[in-house]
Amino acid sequence: MEFNDDVGLDTSQVQDLRSGGGGIGPRVLLGGGGLGVVGLIIYFVMSQLGGTHGSPASGLGAVGSGQRVDNSKIAQQCKTGRDANTNHDCALVATINSIQGYWQDQFARSGKTYRTAPTNFFNGRVSTGCGGATSDTGPFYCPADSQVYVDLSFFNELRSRFGAQGGPFVEAYVLAHEYGHHVQNLLGTSGKVKSRSGPTSDSVRLELQADCYAGVWAKQATTTPTANGQPLIKNITDDDIKRALDTAARIGDDFIQTKLGNGQVDTSKFTHGSSAQRERWFTTGIKSGNPANCDTFGTNNLG
Ligand SMILES: [Zn+2]
Repeated sequence: MEFNDDVGLDTSQVQDLRSGGGGIGPRVLLGGGGLGVVGLIIYFVMSQLGGTHGSPASGLGAVGSGQRVDNSKIAQQCKTGRDANTNHDCALVATINSIQGYWQDQFARSGKTYRTAPTNFFNGRVSTGCGGATSDTGPFYCPADSQVYVDLSFFNELRSRFGAQGGPFVEAYVLAHEYGHHVQNLLGTSGKVKSRSGPTSDSVRLELQADCYAGVWAKQATTTPTANGQPLIKNITDDDIKRALDTAARIGDDFIQTKLGNGQVDTSKFTHGSSAQRERWFTTGIKSGNPANCDTFGTNNLG
């Protein structure tokens, strides 16, 4: 994946919480890490408990206490696609700009209004509208405050712990999946989720749809224009797509249960879908480029 050199970046879509705002505390790594596996690329479950958004953090007013957004470094470094081609943070900013640029256009085409959602970069732990989280949660979207959260060390973990090939487009897939949850939140889809686990549960349908939405963005990324008329993404190669599918396969419930759990596949505990299903729905999105093809709630055949 390459970015167009001369397209401007919008760093306001990112909130950098990493630079030691008071009170974040030391980096916390939970040994053993069972939680991270379960929570991988999650739609934050706490938000779905009890129906009272934000209650774990005693209301939205408490969100982010002790956290400070400091975008000065990113704003200084990440000006154009040229920076995105050489700097990791800037590549993520550009990717987020592209994903939201696509959805902005897509919502407008269907007479709806897209609301921009920031992605928070954090280290170790973070407090959110859905309560506190650590790196072990994996990247997640919190519907209560409509924000994406990612500890960038997760992308290293994908390679070291899950054996994924990694690469910039893999990170783009993960972010596009989280923004898929934001789209579901805006469209009211997430509110319809009743069953939380099982092979055909609403949770699995929600996750597979987010994978499909990620694919839809990927298909449109090189043609989605920015304010200056040029797309931010110059190209996505076949190798990029192969790597994303490799990742999708490694974060399927069955793969995680088999390779990182007790070795047994228990479909009643599925929350995100099998590896094959995740690959299939990402592929459906990237082949069609049409979110209407991502109707995982209206099909009896999830793959
Ligand atoms: Zn998800």
